[in-house]
Amino acid sequence: MKKHNFSAGPSILAKEVIENTARAVLDLNGIGLSVMEISHRGKDFQAVIDETVELFRELLDIPSNYHVLFLGGGASLQFCMVPFNLMNKKAAYLETGSWAKKAIKEAKGFGEVDVVASSADKNFNYIPKGFTIPQDADYFHITTNNTIFGTEILEDYDSPVPLVADMSSDMFSRPVDVSKYAIIYGGAQKNLGPAGVTFVIIRDDILGKVDRHIPTMLDYRTHIENGSMFNTPPCLPIYTCLETLRWLKKLGGVEVMQKMNKEKADLLYKEIERNSLFRTTAEKDSRSLMNICFVMEEAYQDLEKDFLTFATSKGMTGIKGHRSVGGFRASVYNAMPKESVVALIDTMQEFEKANAR
Ligand SMILES: *Cc1c(COP(=O)(O)O)cnc(C)c1O
Repeated sequence: MKKHNFSAGPSILAKEVIENTARAVLDLNGIGLSVMEISHRGKDFQAVIDETVELFRELLDIPSNYHVLFLGGGASLQFCMVPFNLMNKKAAYLETGSWAKKAIKEAKGFGEVDVVASSADKNFNYIPKGFTIPQDADYFHITTNNTIFGTEILEDYDSPVPLVADMSSDMFSRPVDVSKYAIIYGGAQKNLGPAGVTFVIIRDDILGKVDRHIPTMLDYRTHIENGSMFNTPPCLPIYTCLETLRWLKKLGGVEVMQKMNKEKADLLYKEIERNSLFRTTAEKDSRSLMNICFVMEEAYQDLEKDFLTFATSKGMTGIKGHRSVGGFRASVYNAMPKESVVALIDTMQEFEKANAR
């Protein structure tokens, strides 16, 4: 049976991306060697990382005073690398979910953290508005897509201080005005590739302003100076990212992605609203186009397990909601085809017919 992969991360990749990666694992570009067994400093791998950086720049229209880095440690390591490299006294954070909370916890080890607004009062089901960013903060940190709670910031904020964004789960899902950010980072495993590589887009003028000693591996300048090759980079995950970006470019880039993502999310949100058994959790103006969270209506709470079993029998995988929200979460990243969204909708309608009381 066909599987419809709604997993939140690691998550769906385009079939041709997986196939092309499998091919390169056996033989990279016909050189007779696997991408896994060649030197990262040889010309064959250098070409891979160069093209990946180039496609980042091209697809996101990244200005020339920014660097594109591929690091280890996940987005979670960035939670500490950002304050380590940028915070002197104080930083501002927007608290919109579990990942933002983790970033805040790390920052507190380096100085004063000003949480300018939080949606914790409603279990993070909305994006706060009307907050003030302090002028004296060293930077302002946001999480653009809250993977667990299904809310998303769909605009590029104007910030009076350097803006830092965790875009782990919505990178490449829409055009981004990179020039408004000082740092954009994320783990690859939501919208770009397999787990194991973290991308960092960083403007060069924000570094060198803190006095503390920064360990070599945690200093962005190390990786900038060495083109992400100070140590061995995650070669195979980078290769898969390259295949994803080639695929993305072929489809028409981030504008086309955004259009497709809106269409898919609209279809699913409409069905959740229409269906008498389900309701969404996120507030309408804050809803994520990537992670669509929904729960059973009050009167149908007893059917939660049954729906999960039924959906699984129809080939849906990864739709169980995160334990902190409950219910269901359909992650509809770039690589998720519309047909799978339609298949989920059909499943919900069939379940409603059999169970509406
Ligand atoms: C998944 C996720 C992370 C954590 O990424 P790791 O690479 O596992 O450290 C951080 N932020 C957001 C928004 C995420 O979705």
